[in-house]
Amino acid sequence: MGRFDSYKIDLRGMREVNTSYDWCVGNEFFAHIDGPEVQKGKVTVKVDVHRTVDVYEMTFAIDGTVVVICDRCLDEMDLDIHTTGQLQVKLGADYGEQGDVVIIPESEGIINVAWYIYEFVALAIPMKHVHAPGKCNKEMSGKLSKHLLRSTDDEDVVHISAVILHALHHLHELVDGV
Ligand SMILES: [Zn+2]
Repeated sequence: MGRFDSYKIDLRGMREVNTSYDWCVGNEFFAHIDGPEVQKGKVTVKVDVHRTVDVYEMTFAIDGTVVVICDRCLDEMDLDIHTTGQLQVKLGADYGEQGDVVIIPESEGIINVAWYIYEFVALAIPMKHVHAPGKCNKEMSGKLSKHLLRSTDDEDVVHISAVILHALHHLHELVDGV
């Protein structure tokens, strides 16, 4: 059993038009999935799958709290996450993407949504996230203030693109049970 096997959804074997899945995702998930933005957290995930003639429409609803690094003082901070995500999946010859639609091989018929859960959580984190006024680690924020003034929004954009680029790569890995 791979670490993320419980996040597999058997689309090809789906008999009902609508099916729902629920998970409670905790620290172990965030520690083991290979994403830099979130290392800890606790969120509930509900995925509704609606089957049409040739597309599986998946709606993710994610609620909870994750621990991220404060931009101002680099200490950990709690961030409430309430987000939704959409994913459209088709069965095809091989792994791929057609616009916004993810293609998975018909021979497998299974999608592992672990990385998508992580991605939707990561995308819900605001570009700038800092402690409430007065809650920062004062020693650190003093040392860092000069450095942070130099950081540009361009860096943030690169950061988010990297997250998206990871997605397909991880999808392969997770289905292979690595
Ligand atoms: Zn802070």
